[in-house]
Amino acid sequence: MAALADAKRIVVKIGSALLVDARGRGLKQDWLLSLAADVATLKARGQDVVLVSSGSIALGRGVLGLPQTALALEQSQAAAAVGQIRLARAYEEALAPHDITTAQVLVTLEDSADRRRYLNSRATLEQLLSLGVVPIVNENDTVATDEIRYGDNDRLAAQVAVTVGADLLVLLSDVDGLYTANPNDEPSATRLDTVTRITPEIEAMAGDAGTGLSKGGMKTKVMAAKTATSAGCDMIITLGSRHNPLISIDKNESKTLFTAESDPQAARKRWIASMKPQGQIMVDAGAVRALSQGKSLLPAGVTQVSGNFGRGEPVEIVSTDGTNLGQGLTRYTSQEAETIVGHKSADIEAALGYPARAALVHRDDMALGSFSW
Ligand code: GLU
Repeated sequence: MAALADAKRIVVKIGSALLVDARGRGLKQDWLLSLAADVATLKARGQDVVLVSSGSIALGRGVLGLPQTALALEQSQAAAAVGQIRLARAYEEALAPHDITTAQVLVTLEDSADRRRYLNSRATLEQLLSLGVVPIVNENDTVATDEIRYGDNDRLAAQVAVTVGADLLVLLSDVDGLYTANPNDEPSATRLDTVTRITPEIEAMAGDAGTGLSKGGMKTKVMAAKTATSAGCDMIITLGSRHNPLISIDKNESKTLFTAESDPQAARKRWIASMKPQGQIMVDAGAVRALSQGKSLLPAGVTQVSGNFGRGEPVEIVSTDGTNLGQGLTRYTSQEAETIVGHKSADIEAALGYPARAALVHRDDMALGSFSW
């Protein structure tokens, strides 16, 4: 699947440079209206659309008359607060004539790192999409300090695409794709039409193509491609500055397509393996055998539980001699797990006092062995 027309759910990232005049004089209104017309076309075809838009800092900076040079954190936070309200209104006003309702969703890195908050923001986005709304997502720059920032919206957009299970992520950029080298330094550089695997060579091509306004360069775009494609989502980098930038994709304008990994289950396992474990579950020899046959981990085979974890959080699975077998997402909290250690499935309900699922870690939620990105 490569064409825009085939995607069911599309996340579009809009960089600051496309939307905000370089001298901070305001929004590029005509361009925004042409984007809104494209979004209306996609919605009319029954496609879900999420917009991840930068521009709050660039807009607010102009309004407040702050310098175009690097801003201190407090200055960018103030600029974001002033700019975001205008940004959201601009999208609302551009999409309303098409009878499209917009919603503002502001997130920080913690919203995807913390499982409970991640599930919460996923449920909200899902609800908005099911109501036909177009969410306008940005980082909550006003409260995000350096430690809890995404910092660039390429990364944020990839995370949003994974969160909502999008099948296509479009990064509207100031370049029309990934080149073999930076075309500004290397006139002989050529654009890649399709990337099926993100190899170290591909990563080396990314260099840095950042512009004055946006945080990301080609490097963050290739990182975004890694996140998206490994979760089964195609990603396109294309020139965003032309009018109707989305419909241009269907017309075969130049772009680079990063194709989604064909085995989303393997990708999911890599994702599980990459998470920071919140606890440890020790299992007996019988359970090790069962796991090696691809079975789920039942409480009966567990000898010890340590750590403090909630349902759905990653835990390390180790054998009694301490060998790390892999990790998985637990279906019980650490307190529940401690209560049912060693219990047969039939006894779990009596031990907990309420009905519960038998598997402590389901085989679909488990990554055994070593996985590398
Ligand atoms: N969140 C920032 C803003 O809206 C932009 C980050 C980026 O340029 O990627 O101004």
